[in-house]
This record gives sequence, C-alpha cells and structure tokens, in this order.
Amino acid sequence: MSETHSGGCHCGAIRYQLAGKPKDVALCHCVDCRRNAGAPVMAWAGYAEDSLVMTKGEPKIFKSSGATRRSFCSDCGTGLFYRNEEILPGIVEVQLSTMDDQEALPPTVQIQVAERLGWMKTAHQLPEIQRFPE
Ligand SMILES: [Zn+2]
Ligand SMILES: [Zn+2]
Repeated sequence: MSETHSGGCHCGAIRYQLAGKPKDVALCHCVDCRRNAGAPVMAWAGYAEDSLVMTKGEPKIFKSSGATRRSFCSDCGTGLFYRNEEILPGIVEVQLSTMDDQEALPPTVQIQVAERLGWMKTAHQLPEIQRFPE
C-alpha cells in the first residue's frame, strides 16, 4: 500500500495530493521563510516534483529571491509550495501545515538555525495554556 497525503489552502480553492514518502521533513528558521509566512518558523516536507498532483485550482507564484519560487493561493493567501531549481532541482517543498493530517509527518530536523529568532530557542519552555488565557 502506497502512502499518500492530501492538502490545500485555507479557503479550499486549491487542493493537492502527494504520493509516496517525503525526502525530508524540516522546521526552517530562515528569514525568507519567516517573512513569507509572517510566522516565527515554517515546517516543510520535501518531495520529488512528480509526487505532487494538483487536484483543484492553480496557485500563484511569487519570486521571493534568486531562483526561489513560492506558490500561494491568490484568493486566501495561504502559502503552499517552495521550489528552487538551482538549490533543490526536481524537488517541491510543501508547507506541512497545509496538509489535511498535520500530525502525519513529524519534522526530524531544524534547519537554518543560524538565522533563528533568539527567543524561539527556548519557546518550548514558555507557560502553556490549553485554550485562551482567562
Ligand atoms: Zn485559498
Ligand atoms: Zn527557510
């Protein structure tokens, strides 16, 4: 039985499917990812390009720097894919949090920690509240 994962953007205009296993699953702390996501860290699953099939809609592409191409939904703005033919030929990096099952592929490494926000290193030590504060 072969492994498949599905996902899409927040509004549902774009849907995709992934066949097989990712080559790697990583948390990326680089400034580019953070600026693009508006978030302190980004989770990625790297797949061979032919593992990805679009099942609904087509994302827009933003050339963020150099050969980097970031795909997103032009309706709701959700970021979906990262491609860079110079650094990662034949690979599509998928934003893990756009997958229907976000627990299925736990990250195994943190990359670009040279650019990590100082306070992210100890974020797991912050007080935890199950829902919103009272
Ligand atoms: Zn959307
Ligand atoms: Zn990054």
